[in-house]
Amino acid sequence: MKTSEFLKGLAVSVWTGTVHLFRHRMTSMYPETQNYPNTEMYAYDPKKGVAVSGWRGRHYLDMSKCTGCQLCFIACENIAEAIEMIPVPEAAHAQNKKSIYPGVDYGRCVFCGFCVDACPFYALYMTPVAEISEMNRNDLYYSPVELSVPPVPNPAPKVHVNFDKKRGSHDER
Ligand code: SF4
Ligand code: SF4
Repeated sequence: MKTSEFLKGLAVSVWTGTVHLFRHRMTSMYPETQNYPNTEMYAYDPKKGVAVSGWRGRHYLDMSKCTGCQLCFIACENIAEAIEMIPVPEAAHAQNKKSIYPGVDYGRCVFCGFCVDACPFYALYMTPVAEISEMNRNDLYYSPVELSVPPVPNPAPKVHVNFDKKRGSHDER
């Protein structure tokens, strides 16, 4: 390769890179997407038969509504076998006579949401909490009590997503 061609190629690549430094990003990447404006929990309304769109991160279990019917467990049985019904005798909820509640193994869960769709008692949701990686395999198992901790609301979004037909969605900062 001639020296002039090499210098020309170098100049073009430096110029191209420099121009992009001053352009709005076309994509929002992690960790900014952590605070993407959609903070809704994925939910299912069994009466209306419709799902409410939202993040499908770790579950939220409302133990005061769970009857222990095991329908979430059955829904998961042929998908990932991620749900186990666990006795929680110290939970005093009259509607759950056997005091059994679902626990989820996130080493197996594929976040399909079918367990949420199967719950007829508005007891199971999926939250925006997606940062659940662990160093220890056993820590991926969430007991019913751990699932019953409501997610901490996201702080103000760090991204200002603008949708336009020409450029697609992009961060407007
Ligand atoms: S979201 Fe996870 S726990 Fe629920 S049915 Fe799907 S694989 Fe099973
Ligand atoms: S979470 Fe819902 S489907 Fe699962 S055991 Fe409780 S009430 Fe039944």
